[in-house]
Amino acid sequence: MSLLHTSPDPQTLCLRVQGVVQGVGFRPFVFRLAQALGLSGWVRNDLEGVLIEVSAAPEVLSAFVQALREQAPPAAQVERIDVLERRPGGLPPGFAILESEASGPITTLISPDLTLCEDCLQELSDPANRRYRYPYINCTNCGPRYSIILQLPYDRPFTTMRAFEMCPDCAAEYHDPTNRRFHAQPIACPVCGPQVHLWNARMEPIASRDPAIAEAARLLREGRILAIKGLGGYHLACDANNTEAVEALRTRKKRPSKPFALMAKNTEALRGYALLDAAALRLLESLERPIVLLPKGPKPLPEALAPGSPHLGFMLPYTPLQHLLFAEGAPPLLVMTSANRSGEPMVYRDEDLGSLRGLADFFLVGDRPIARRVDDSIVAIADAKPMILRRARGFAPAPVLRSERFQKPILALGGMLKNAIALSTGGQVFLSQHIGDLEELEARLAFQQTIHDLTQMYRVNLDETLVVHDLHPDYPSTQYALELPGPKQAVQHHRAHIASVLVEQGLWEEEVIGFAFDGAGLGEDGAIWGGEVFAGSLAQGLSRVAHLRYAHLLGGDAAASFPAQAAVGFLQELSGWEALLPEPTLRQAGSLLRSKLPLPLTSSMGRLFDTVAALLGFHTRQDFEGQAAMSLESLARSYPSAPSQPRFSLPLRPAAHGWAWDYRALLEAILDGLRKGLPKQELAWHFHAALSAGVVDAAQILRDAHNTSRVVLSGGVWQNRLLHQLTLTKLRPLGFQVRWNQSVPPGDGGLALGQLALGHSRK
Ligand code: ZN
Ligand code: ZN
Ligand code: FE
Repeated sequence: MSLLHTSPDPQTLCLRVQGVVQGVGFRPFVFRLAQALGLSGWVRNDLEGVLIEVSAAPEVLSAFVQALREQAPPAAQVERIDVLERRPGGLPPGFAILESEASGPITTLISPDLTLCEDCLQELSDPANRRYRYPYINCTNCGPRYSIILQLPYDRPFTTMRAFEMCPDCAAEYHDPTNRRFHAQPIACPVCGPQVHLWNARMEPIASRDPAIAEAARLLREGRILAIKGLGGYHLACDANNTEAVEALRTRKKRPSKPFALMAKNTEALRGYALLDAAALRLLESLERPIVLLPKGPKPLPEALAPGSPHLGFMLPYTPLQHLLFAEGAPPLLVMTSANRSGEPMVYRDEDLGSLRGLADFFLVGDRPIARRVDDSIVAIADAKPMILRRARGFAPAPVLRSERFQKPILALGGMLKNAIALSTGGQVFLSQHIGDLEELEARLAFQQTIHDLTQMYRVNLDETLVVHDLHPDYPSTQYALELPGPKQAVQHHRAHIASVLVEQGLWEEEVIGFAFDGAGLGEDGAIWGGEVFAGSLAQGLSRVAHLRYAHLLGGDAAASFPAQAAVGFLQELSGWEALLPEPTLRQAGSLLRSKLPLPLTSSMGRLFDTVAALLGFHTRQDFEGQAAMSLESLARSYPSAPSQPRFSLPLRPAAHGWAWDYRALLEAILDGLRKGLPKQELAWHFHAALSAGVVDAAQILRDAHNTSRVVLSGGVWQNRLLHQLTLTKLRPLGFQVRWNQSVPPGDGGLALGQLALGHSRK
């Protein structure tokens, strides 16, 4: 580097770095890099990201810029580096980190919460370290971010750590640019920081600090149920191998069958319980540490963990407290499910812990407040690639894309179930964390809070913001949209699903054939859609060209909860099925049909799945959305010999507008199979095969009519990986290029992104 000092012609560069570059150790990295290369200048955070001014010989400067990109800290995401100015001459010697600049428009990105890093994990288990066994250890590479931020810029006084005054040791680290904890806003230690406490069932403190953790681990071994504070909310935990504990948790939560997520001490601890491949391991160990849905392995676990599901959701520890519990001897496989009463969102405020009375035997609580609820993210694997099913911790609120197209602020409010909102501003598009089902009051409050949070943090003026909402007038999200001051735009649900794939994958102009399959969304003709095919593009618009033949929807929303009730509407025109459905459902359906009240029509694929599930024996109320369909997928997967010849078909017939799949032939064939005594697994498998063949038939007809071989799949039904895989395997050899949601959920959690894109393109 001596070149530098002898070089006669130093230059000065002013650089702007954008992306996730704050709260991730970026400035200390720049500082160390500048020192190593012998540069003079300074670095500073501002509202647009990181600003750097450096001087050196030109070749050293280009090495510096390259290293900024290539050697950035693991949690940083450098999205762009712009040279704002290049001028001859040098700066005075020395390199400094300057104070944050807090004026101007906010375009910098808030970092998602970060998994405990390797360095901190080392220190956590090092008896010589002053943070040995300290459950709130963190550094600039790890720890809480989004879940503690009260407002921007990201500085300690604007986080929930503002209540804790740093001790001299922490302060020294915080101010030392060469330290891993330089400007680590949540910095803390046993002397000055938050601590954990154990409470009994009456919520009386019984232990604190180390003894609290040791006792909690012992209680878990004993089969007790604990509420444990995590990053973005509370979990309910128990030993996953203790059938009694798992069943007690089910009874107390009043959740007979919704799958529980599991946390394994390490990948070793889940071997045998899950089928692991390279893609699964990569995801489990990724920085985001999501819940990964994996096929159940050969080693048995209590059926009550996920009854009727082909998959189990696993994650690895991501907070110091979780690591400490395992190190202290907690069972190596724990249930770690959101702590809530049935249907309500996860509890995250200590004040609300009272609502968990009777659910948990003990409470492991902590002093650091959580600013907002951030659930665990859920990722599935489809075609060896990640498919996000719930986007929250680790992902939110990082932008889903950056594009010059999205300069103007647009707010999209999503739908009803599993809702999330989207916001675009300054060329960035954000999708909020998973908010929940807006039927619940708590979720509606979280919905409003999230709108407030995102628009405040990014200083978006709602008066000038286009608000995009669903076509359904009764959704709370629609009603809330109408109260906002800016211009409004309604977008049809299934068009938004298809658009979510197009925008996620950057297909702006491309013509596609889009298959939007889900449970329910209001169509333009007043029917409840859900088995829709569109042709067109984001730029030109999407026209509906085919759909599932309409059936009567008996009892409206009740039909979504009771598969047997939905079934009557689809089976009406057929015969010989009555004996297969429960008597009370038939009576109720009969009186609905005789009442001559107008019955809504539906083209919902979700309800078709429900119909087949009901015929094959699913007669209870659904404990969660998609349960009957999931049990049907599970049944089909247990069919050992997947034959190549389809037994059933879903014929496509000309309809009033385009084409319609006639499900009657398919249901007739299933009834016939039942009469012949064919195994249910076989019927379930052939149902999936027929559906995928129906998609392929439609794709082939529409390819000729619309001159495109691009196929797009979206909507909650595509979470069914058997259907997804059967469809892919048939489409690809025919020359179709198939795209689906990967970085946002295919279900309604990704809806807002599609709404935003369509609202934008219609401006
Ligand atoms: Zn760390
Ligand atoms: Zn301290
Ligand atoms: Fe949907």
